[in-house]
Amino acid sequence: MNKMPTQLVKFVRDLYATQEFIPLHAPTFAGNEQAYLAETITSTFVSSVGKFVDEFEQKIQIFTQANRAIATVNGTAALHTALHLADVKAGDLVITQALTFVATCNAIHHLGAKPIFIDIAPDSFGLCPQATASWLAVHAMLDTDGNCRHKPTGAAIKAILPMHTFGHPVQLDELLTLCQEWNLTLIEDAAESLGSFYKGQHTGTLGRFAALSFNGNKVITTGGGGMLLCREVADGIRAKHITTTAKAPHAYEFYHDEAGFNYRMPNLNAALGCAQMEQLESMLANKRKIAENYQSFFAATDYQFVKEPDYAHSNYWLNAIVCPDLASRNQLLETTNAQGVMTRPVWQLMHRLPMFADALRGDLTHSEWAEARLVNLPSSPVI
Ligand SMILES: *Cc1c(COP(=O)(O)O)cnc(C)c1O
Repeated sequence: MNKMPTQLVKFVRDLYATQEFIPLHAPTFAGNEQAYLAETITSTFVSSVGKFVDEFEQKIQIFTQANRAIATVNGTAALHTALHLADVKAGDLVITQALTFVATCNAIHHLGAKPIFIDIAPDSFGLCPQATASWLAVHAMLDTDGNCRHKPTGAAIKAILPMHTFGHPVQLDELLTLCQEWNLTLIEDAAESLGSFYKGQHTGTLGRFAALSFNGNKVITTGGGGMLLCREVADGIRAKHITTTAKAPHAYEFYHDEAGFNYRMPNLNAALGCAQMEQLESMLANKRKIAENYQSFFAATDYQFVKEPDYAHSNYWLNAIVCPDLASRNQLLETTNAQGVMTRPVWQLMHRLPMFADALRGDLTHSEWAEARLVNLPSSPVI
């Protein structure tokens, strides 16, 4: 019998110094959360206008060095808005990875567009530029106007939407080159990668658009929330406008110049975000320590700890290991969860879900390999 799962349980219990249930990723509120929330309620500005929304956007903008940051009700709404502003419409196609959380693909679906699933790179577990290039070379063409089209159907391919899996940055330079070559928009799903840097630049600032998420299980949380990052100032202005019902500013008249969204983050949530941002650096430092601990634990085993790619600095949002095979993965999940240490398999690949079963896809060898072996480990940033 393989003893590793039992040893892992003991190791995680020592790491978090508790005999109680250990979740995968719990939020921590050790700063000004209560004070800012109380201030919000006292001010009565609990909804989508208020000082904390502006402050939170500013803090994210300064931390990421993004040109513009627009707070939204959640990460999916930020992705939906980004795709809409990238002119993704019904019938269009968007290149993404099959190994992702469903929100990436839901955002594409909500615009009436369809995903194209391309394989992941084995070092980042995010979209592989080489696989994307190969797929485009065979299946795509540039029309006389220079627009990228799917050769067999003529459908427009509009964007490449990579996801920084568990916080590990994808190869952005290579994807940007492909976007130039094929006239596509790069949109980063950076929902998991607040605090992750690609060659020194914060993830989400290289694409024309990016989405962050502040859901309860993310690096920092606002309860529910997201942020749309824009590389261009004009996109940022447009994004703020369209996420606030596209209302033209006026003291009392209601005039809306396009069909907008009601996607702005309430001040109540942003208050939480401001308090969480004050603790971001210490949470990231803790996450790195936890990752280092896991890395040394697994060094002597045949379970492979997932490290940040050479070119990147990861936030280690969710620590992960690659098990030798499906059987050892299942045994690990069984043993740890039965003993109150939460572990989780990676998401089932998107093309296995009924709503994306008929989507176009390339060879998914690495995705299928990872799907059968990846396990996420407890990663709350408190030790
Ligand atoms: C969390 C997450 C999102 C967005 O989630 P919301 O719950 O809508 O904030 C999007 N993509 C990925 C990969 C995620 O992990």
